[in-house]
Amino acid sequence: MGKTASVGRVKHTPIRTCIGCRQAEGKRTFVRIVRTPQGVVVDPTGKQAGRGAYIHRSPACWEAALKGNRIEQALRTKLTPEERAALAAFGAELLETHEGQNVGS
Ligand SMILES: [Zn+2]
Repeated sequence: MGKTASVGRVKHTPIRTCIGCRQAEGKRTFVRIVRTPQGVVVDPTGKQAGRGAYIHRSPACWEAALKGNRIEQALRTKLTPEERAALAAFGAELLETHEGQNVGS
């Protein structure tokens, strides 16, 4: 069979993998976190220098990433309890904000 693919035009969208659910997608669907000298922080601009990792805008993915220590593995660092709490809070907030995702599936 041929490609029924929905890929359409290939416009060099960087593909990233969610460290929560391990699904790869274009980076726009993700929130980036980055390891800085000050610690691990959410990077809303996606432009901060440092080792980064990507997580879907979904509380479930943040939970999975935090629970499995995947953030630590991905960023090769240890999260402090404060950082962990901050990231968990950020992930949980995504639930309420739920910004304009197309409700599919
Ligand atoms: Zn995910």
